[in-house]
Amino acid sequence: MSNPESVARGHLYVVATPIGNLADLSPRAAAVLAGVDLILAEDTRNSWVLMQHAGITTPMAALHDHNERGLAESLIQRLEAGEALALISDAGTPLISDPGFVLVRQVRDAGLPVMTVPGPCALIAALSIAGLPTDRFTFVGFLPAKTSARRSALAPLGALTETWVCYESSHRIADTLADMEAVLGADRDVLLARELTKRFEQSVRLPLGALRAWLAEDPMHEKGEFVLCVAGAAAASDADRQLTEGRRLMARLVQELPASRAARIAAELSGAPRKQLYVESLAEPDA
Ligand code: SAM
Repeated sequence: MSNPESVARGHLYVVATPIGNLADLSPRAAAVLAGVDLILAEDTRNSWVLMQHAGITTPMAALHDHNERGLAESLIQRLEAGEALALISDAGTPLISDPGFVLVRQVRDAGLPVMTVPGPCALIAALSIAGLPTDRFTFVGFLPAKTSARRSALAPLGALTETWVCYESSHRIADTLADMEAVLGADRDVLLARELTKRFEQSVRLPLGALRAWLAEDPMHEKGEFVLCVAGAAAASDADRQLTEGRRLMARLVQELPASRAARIAAELSGAPRKQLYVESLAEPDA
């Protein structure tokens, strides 16, 4: 399997690994993992299964939230000495709700090269099948575990107009959906994706009220790993936004200018209809 030509000396490779289906390990990821001097894995026992599957015998060392800071300096020395290293997490893309930030930051700060070997990522996989707008989105990782903190976190998220995405575990999926319904309302569309790329992969997009009923329908629906993609709050139309801006400008300009002139300038700057701004300002009671 070893393919040392796939790796360059002194480079740190951040390698995405499968989120369930081992066949999703890319040929390049396998070649890099086989070619580096050391693989830094979140949990070496867990990653051993993948290495066995791919026939990779590269030595592994554990790198997780608790030892990352302490190890970074010695890993930088190894890179400086010309060793190639790979960073992987238990599943998916390192650093995405997973360890690695401290190491990548410090390796970069030391002026050493960091290379990506991209691949699976649960949030991107879920978004790509959600049927929700993806031109802009927000990823919030895991919501807080306790209900009161979770509801507080949900309040500002509820106002976002773009799609937003969170991760959730089987222990909390029912409570999280209940809190989402309480804060966002029963009509908000949510895509629930579970066990992506695995044997019992399922994804459903429903309004929150119906989604909670779906979850309660079958005990299997609560099992496994989850991504939730939440539809953004209905955005105001362009025309609404222009009118709001036009009214704001008008309110200020009529203090300095005759109404007809103020309306012309406010309409030009905001795109709102001049006549409407003018007529509305005449209807305003005198201050
Ligand atoms: N770094 C990973 C990635 O790139 O997606 C995420 C790691 S995070 C610790 C683990 C969470 O990702 C799970 O609790 C679940 O919310 C989500 N996840 C991972 N694999 C998944 C899968 N196959 N199906 C659905 N969600 C998954």
